[in-house]
Amino acid sequence: MSEKRQGAVKQITSHSNPLVKEIKGLVAQRKHRSQSGLFVAEGLKLATDALEAGWDVRYLAIGPEARDNPVAQKAAAAAKARGALILEVSTAVMSAMTRKDNPQMVVGVYEQQILGAKDIDPRGASVWVALDRVRDPGNLGTIIRTVDAVGGAGVMLVGDCTDPFAVEAVRATMGSLFHVPLAKMGKEEFKALAGKWPGTVAATHLKGSVDYRVPEWQDPVLLVMGNEQKGLEDDMADACKTLIRIPQVGQADSLNLAVATGIALYEIRRNHLEL
Ligand code: SAM
Repeated sequence: MSEKRQGAVKQITSHSNPLVKEIKGLVAQRKHRSQSGLFVAEGLKLATDALEAGWDVRYLAIGPEARDNPVAQKAAAAAKARGALILEVSTAVMSAMTRKDNPQMVVGVYEQQILGAKDIDPRGASVWVALDRVRDPGNLGTIIRTVDAVGGAGVMLVGDCTDPFAVEAVRATMGSLFHVPLAKMGKEEFKALAGKWPGTVAATHLKGSVDYRVPEWQDPVLLVMGNEQKGLEDDMADACKTLIRIPQVGQADSLNLAVATGIALYEIRRNHLEL
């Protein structure tokens, strides 16, 4: 087994340091994240979650407060032992890197992990959630967090989705990003996967003819959710065996995407959760 090289510690005081510019770019631009395969997660909880889940840390920036915090010190030592470069920065540099007036005391830079359609093994008693062109990073992060909470298998991002590694999406996962597998695929790849899926394939749809409490869910379940504005594309809906509806009685057109996902997931996993 190859062992990782021990990392190092570097003090940064200048805003124009190239590493500060690199982290700023990762925070601000999807293009930088895609080209480098890196992303930023802010906060000590996320740093600890990432280490526990075995993710590779490229840099761990620690502000002055973290130097007196035993949990932060432990995280920095663990990251360094795994080859990370520890950046000791001032609060002003941390603010500049994260574009925040009140930055977190710890900011990590990690290597992205994302699966493709061919990596998905649908066997086993679990549930995958597929999102058709999800646009809102807060919705995506909340769904990843909810999939984690019900012990789901992962989240598929179908078509042109928001970046799961954007700072807002990562923040909304509250650390679940490090525990829930993500996969990215085109619509045709998804339809092929859905076509040979061994368990229940159900889409939530405002025109669904089946109440979400009715189906007998056969594991593994594939739960498919539509786009925030446009709902599910017709051919995506056609690829699903069942269209389910969550009843509404008031004047709201529809439920928020993350809320609808949470309601459906808790129903699907009802028998698996010891509530
Ligand atoms: N105007 C969109 C439409 O016509 O579908 C509304 C989309 S809704 C905000 C986003 C997604 O949440 C939907 O595509 C569906 O997957 C799910 N959803 C929201 N409310 C639902 C409900 N009452 N029943 C079933 N699915 C629902």
